[in-house]
Amino acid sequence: MMRKRKKLAPAVLLCAAVALLLLSTVGSARAALTYYSENYAMEVTVSSIGVTLTENGEPVSYRNYIEDGWSDSGTGLLLTALAESEGRLVPGREYTDELGVTNSGAIDSYVRVILYRSWQDGEGRKDTTLSPELIEIGLAEESGWVLDGKASTPERLVLYYTEPLLSGESTPALCRSLRVNPDILSRVREEVSETAEGEVITTSYRYDGYWMCLEAEVDAVLVSVGRTANTEGLFDADVPIRMENGRIVVDDFFATNIPGIYAVGDVIGGIQLAHVASAQATYVVERMNDVPASVIVEMVPSCLFVPISIVPSCLYTDPEIASVGLTEEEARKKGVPIRCGRYVMDGNGQSIISKEERGVIKVLFAADSDVILGAQLMCPRATDMIGELATAIANGLTSSQLMYAMRAHPTYNEAISCAIENSRALRGR
Ligand SMILES: Cc1cc2nc3c(=O)[nH]c(=O)nc-3n(C[C@H](O)[C@H](O)[C@H](O)COP(=O)(O)OP(=O)(O)OC[C@H]3O[C@@H](n4cnc5c(N)ncnc54)[C@H](O)[C@@H]3O)c2cc1C
Repeated sequence: MMRKRKKLAPAVLLCAAVALLLLSTVGSARAALTYYSENYAMEVTVSSIGVTLTENGEPVSYRNYIEDGWSDSGTGLLLTALAESEGRLVPGREYTDELGVTNSGAIDSYVRVILYRSWQDGEGRKDTTLSPELIEIGLAEESGWVLDGKASTPERLVLYYTEPLLSGESTPALCRSLRVNPDILSRVREEVSETAEGEVITTSYRYDGYWMCLEAEVDAVLVSVGRTANTEGLFDADVPIRMENGRIVVDDFFATNIPGIYAVGDVIGGIQLAHVASAQATYVVERMNDVPASVIVEMVPSCLFVPISIVPSCLYTDPEIASVGLTEEEARKKGVPIRCGRYVMDGNGQSIISKEERGVIKVLFAADSDVILGAQLMCPRATDMIGELATAIANGLTSSQLMYAMRAHPTYNEAISCAIENSRALRGR
């Protein structure tokens, strides 16, 4: 069994804040480089992940996991280009600012960068009267970086690099330039006063002492696909157990070719998930003891003559993804007439409260018998909610039966009711 290491708390790594306006000087710095990835350790092998943020080709900050722990460093300061103007940010002037990411770990990963831009007053309080869009970041086009428009706001730009970033490689720059919109200068007040020497014009800027803040957060996303059964050396060469491509061959009851020896889980191939291994083991032990099976992994719905899998499959992404039973495409390929209810999460109360409106729920019912055949969820808590739908498929419930019990408000679960209602609205069409 793999050991799962503790999830690492987001770590602050990198930062920069630069004082704005003609009379200002360079100020203090703050920013963050964060990992949401999890590390898995298999026996003594430790994965090495790491990312380095670069600006104009120079490393600004890095965070790497190398064998015995995290190592992070770098100046942490962005906007070194301001040295060109002695640390002052000149509104209207376009500064070269090429931000990129280098994979400084030992394994390939996907990367995401979140840029935060905002204004602070002289006392460090965020000022919302000035638009973050006055800080113009010239995003690079056709660079392989894409802006996630749905997740981005004027203050927060979320960018994904669309290719896996190989160990040691760097992405092209995600942005090319930085400029403060000179509109900010229109907020100038001039006072003319008479002195013995003549007329004195005093110019004051309404935003004197204000700070422009730019922060970059970098995530490394690990991709782990393709596993094989680890059976090498499992049996003595004299044990005549039947194997195929490294997997132990079993019959429908998990019995091997040697009477009295059963095999379950990853070693037999098929769906390699912890809950499947556990269910198969329960099934075998119950069978050995002549106890009726308490768990099933597939069932034959009333509209079909072949079994469908009721194994929930979950992806712990953001938002989470979970699926059970048939998909719409699979049902159509099998020629099963279906009704597919959909619900987009941006109308769900709990999603609105938690500001996680991205997501969708699909529930499939047999058009004739109304029994549930499958469900796919992509939303917060999808991996928790899929259990209810797996239970419904295992018990051959219809859309009416799924609607008998109300779902509490405000919960993500309510959206399941909405998707079911949507499928019912399609009846008779
Ligand atoms: C990175 C990663 C992430 C995963 N995430 C998920 C997830 O989120 N959800 C999920 O459901 N599944 C997940 N899985 C899959 C899940 O871990 C496996 O499907 C599950 O552990 C299989 O259980 P098993 O009992 O068949 O094998 P294992 O859990 O691997 O157990 C086999 C045991 O046998 C022991 N063993 C091996 N050889 C011998 C020997 N010769 N003698 C005695 N003992 C031996 C091993 O040490 C181990 O303890 C993940 C797997 C990986 C690699």
